[in-house]
Amino acid sequence: MTPRGRRRVAPRCVRCRLHLPDCVCDAARLPTRARVVLVPHAVDWDQPSNTGRLAALFLSTCELAVFGRRDRPLDLESLLREQQTHLLLHPGPDAAPLGPVDGPVRLLVPDGSWRQAGRIASRLARLPGVARVRVDPPPSPALRRAGSPDRVATAFAIAAALDALGEPAPAAHLRSVAEVMVARALRARGKLSPPR
Ligand SMILES: [Zn+2]
Repeated sequence: MTPRGRRRVAPRCVRCRLHLPDCVCDAARLPTRARVVLVPHAVDWDQPSNTGRLAALFLSTCELAVFGRRDRPLDLESLLREQQTHLLLHPGPDAAPLGPVDGPVRLLVPDGSWRQAGRIASRLARLPGVARVRVDPPPSPALRRAGSPDRVATAFAIAAALDALGEPAPAAHLRSVAEVMVARALRARGKLSPPR
């Protein structure tokens, strides 16, 4: 059997979705002051190229609320909390650049394909008291075609948001796990299929 053949059947880690030899799950879990509330689309959530999952895995304070499950519809209002600042991390004409915020923050992060995330973001933006914010992260490695230079993978967008909120340690941690994940996934892809 060729190495290529062995890679093809390599099972994936159920947590990080990388092939088992590439698993990144031994990385630390760090808390954040701002509460990251990850809202992935159910269809995208199991995709190995989904990087939002890294926030759920390696930020110990991250909350996960999967959108679009037929058996368990998500009540978006249940994501809101009294006396907290709710920020929606998604670019748009009404998005303000993110900076430090006083008091408790809930950072709502839609995740999925660009179209799925946009649909979730427009639902979240209609909730009372939710303000749309944007970050301008530097270019980062990606597993998906971005379509536009201001679109970065979710893990890198969250890291940039944590930086903007004044939390460089968990930001750097998430960014470095994401870089490792993307590099390993790209390497595995190179072995699985020729680059286009
Ligand atoms: Zn893993």
